[in-house]
Amino acid sequence: MRTLTGTGTTPLSSLGTARWYRPNADLTLPDRPDPDDVDVDGERERFNRVRERAREGIERARDRAAERVGEEEAAVFDAHREFLDDPTLVGDIEAEIEAGIPAEHAVRSAFEDPIARFERMDGRMAERADDLRDVRDRLLRLLLDVDAIDLSTLPSGTVLLAERLTPSDTAELDPDAVAGVATATGGRTSHTGIIARALSIPAVVGVGDALTGVTAGAEVLVDGEADELVVSPDEDRRADAGGLDLPVVRERVETADGRAIEVAANVGRTAEVGAASERGADGIGLFRTEFLFLNREEPPDETEQYGAITDALAVFPEDRVVVRTLDVGGDKPVPYLDRPDEPNPFLGRRGIRTSLDEHADLFDTQLRALLRAAEGEQGDGLAVMFPLVTRVEEVEAALDHVESVVDRLAEEGIPHAVPELGAMVETPAAAAVADVLAERLDFLSIGTNDLTQYVMAADRENDAVAEYHDPLHPAVLRTIDRTVKAARGGDAWVGMCGEMAGNPALTELLVGLRLDELSMSAVTVPAVKEAIREVNTGQAEALADEVLSCATRAEVKELIGD
Ligand code: PEP
Ligand code: MG
Repeated sequence: MRTLTGTGTTPLSSLGTARWYRPNADLTLPDRPDPDDVDVDGERERFNRVRERAREGIERARDRAAERVGEEEAAVFDAHREFLDDPTLVGDIEAEIEAGIPAEHAVRSAFEDPIARFERMDGRMAERADDLRDVRDRLLRLLLDVDAIDLSTLPSGTVLLAERLTPSDTAELDPDAVAGVATATGGRTSHTGIIARALSIPAVVGVGDALTGVTAGAEVLVDGEADELVVSPDEDRRADAGGLDLPVVRERVETADGRAIEVAANVGRTAEVGAASERGADGIGLFRTEFLFLNREEPPDETEQYGAITDALAVFPEDRVVVRTLDVGGDKPVPYLDRPDEPNPFLGRRGIRTSLDEHADLFDTQLRALLRAAEGEQGDGLAVMFPLVTRVEEVEAALDHVESVVDRLAEEGIPHAVPELGAMVETPAAAAVADVLAERLDFLSIGTNDLTQYVMAADRENDAVAEYHDPLHPAVLRTIDRTVKAARGGDAWVGMCGEMAGNPALTELLVGLRLDELSMSAVTVPAVKEAIREVNTGQAEALADEVLSCATRAEVKELIGD
């Protein structure tokens, strides 16, 4: 048994079989042996086996594309299958193998000429070179045993190991098949961690270089509660597999002395909305719409977005559903949006900045879908908020967009309504002008993942500064307090949707800071509801006052633990 430590991002644990994901695996070939040393029959068989597996992989990809995107897009895989069966290409590979050339070298050299020929052509024919490269690399990955695995069709019980996973990779995972995730890099508030938590997949991130020592096929326990990845766990540790099995509390909850606190869920995909309801969430406090934009070739249109929003509203007919407008940039690049290459993407073109400028067309499309969804009885619960606000002018400009979309919908005779409107407080600048924002808006929602990174000047993705990225630092807590007071002054309700909100050990403090709503990954909803019922608001406010007078993190720790 070997225990590696990292940061558990989902408070669940499970056992499974390790499988490595190496999307950028090196396809450099080993040195070519002397032809006399090559087992020609063995190489021929190896090539045939790999060709069969490649065919299966192409067929799987085709079926998935047809199901998720459409027949037209799926047709590209028909072309891949034709290349794989092309008699000239296959004949060339077989001839080289007969001459004592190992299969991987034979594949690489047989594809060279056809690729070069297509590259010299124009337009669509030139694109066929990419298809050929794709087929060649699929064969090479299989021959070199660095198979780029398909994240959406992993075998049941897989524990996925990776240097890092992008938000798109994580969003592809099938929670029914993936037993757990462990990555070498990443922190608690990295989007990989957030999405894994949203999908209720046990995850430990930031394990470091030690992760590379875990071999594929090993039995591993991902223990998101103990912050550990255990290789070949003994009987005792195997018994730890499982997790938060608290009873679901369906009704809304109050503190012991009767203050109602809304406990909502954060979601990224429509499929998570149903899971949030099953966990007893009182609505959605953050719908990260950027996840509707990932893993595809072009943005979702108005109809698709309208469908996603109205579906969420239908799951929570009596509750509020807070939808955040597109928050791209930072660690959430969307390849087809042609984003600038920035040296500091977290300090660059992200959130509302892009919606008011380079992606204004996408913003207006999204607003049209939202305003249409807000109409009627079902739309009453809709609320819309803007991400990464720093300036009052941005909110004013966003409200101008809302107004002009209203005018256009009215002209077109399309039913619509203006939902509750709010802003995320994720920057020190927004917190400093929260009083003005609260006067102009219906609500504020504190995003502590980004707020902590900007208050503490500590990248949320960088393990080397993880100790600074701590929402319990007095500087962050005082910024939260200031924001809540400003919201109250402006008659706006105020929630928190950063990861901090889902930690039941902090519930008393957050009630004491007088938040109206806490929104979190669905998996922690039952524990936070249970914690709220234990709180006495007088004591909680006294605790918050004490904590706010602390000068250091160590003093805060003395009061509320680690
Ligand atoms: C936050 O920053 O706290 C937040 C909720 O937004 P995201 O994690 O999507 O950046
Ligand atoms: Mg944020």
